[in-house]
Amino acid sequence: MPNAMNRTVEAIHRSTTFHWVGNGFHVSTYFPSAALPAERVSPFVLMDYGPPKEFGPLATGKRGVGWHPHRGFETVTLAWEGAVAHRDNAGHSGVIGPGDVQWMTAAAGIFHEEFHEEKLTRSGGRMHMMQLWVNLPKKDKFAKPAYQPITSSDIPRVKLDNGSTIRVIAGELNGTRGPARTFTPITMLDANVPAGAKLTVPLPSTFNALAVVAKGRVLADGKPAARGELVLFANNGEQLELVAEEDTHLIILAGEPLREPVVAYGPFVMNTMQEIKQAMIDVQLGKFGEVPD
Ligand code: MN
Repeated sequence: MPNAMNRTVEAIHRSTTFHWVGNGFHVSTYFPSAALPAERVSPFVLMDYGPPKEFGPLATGKRGVGWHPHRGFETVTLAWEGAVAHRDNAGHSGVIGPGDVQWMTAAAGIFHEEFHEEKLTRSGGRMHMMQLWVNLPKKDKFAKPAYQPITSSDIPRVKLDNGSTIRVIAGELNGTRGPARTFTPITMLDANVPAGAKLTVPLPSTFNALAVVAKGRVLADGKPAARGELVLFANNGEQLELVAEEDTHLIILAGEPLREPVVAYGPFVMNTMQEIKQAMIDVQLGKFGEVPD
């Protein structure tokens, strides 16, 4: 008997093409894409997912992407396997390892670099990660750059009687709040749900809501979604309901849409093409700061 509170599924999207970000991140871009229009995924603007990938040892050099600018949004990097070393020209640096999340606010403008951590590069190993671009509302696009290193131990875990463990990165679940500070309301959950168990996530019906299946298989609204697929929920109910058909790892991304124009070009996400052009000029003028050696 379907529960009338449950949202229905609007689309199930499988991203089939992979590309390299620099020489270190082998990812599939789920959105922006024709299948997932900007207004249906807002406040998120981009999702690159890198399923587990084995890297051999590298004697010299680095794997990743060197200094590049961003403006107008936040980059959120989640690692499950491997480790990503980050450095920016606002003075922040760190390594995110398994279970860690890095929430970087580029906002007014920043340069950063993202590489595999040195030890992983030399000895080789597996990398499993995701990078999200979280849009900022027009009024906050020129906020000061900031950095939230969120370690695995900072992230509270909600354990359900059915054996599920849900890490609350942002927003709230069953009274447990995640540590990420966000400019607009966002719920980000990292859930492991054993075969046969049901996960129910109450959310305001206005929130856009996505579930990414990183492992296993679920039923949502009676529709199956397998590893590598993304479920887009309709905004028509008070909760998401997902039933695991196998031991499943899910990432739930939800948030209040911004309802502002999105012009994304290269490493910039603004509201108009004129602001994109200005960002390019401002990089040339040094307004994003110096690029360190
Ligand atoms: Mn970047």
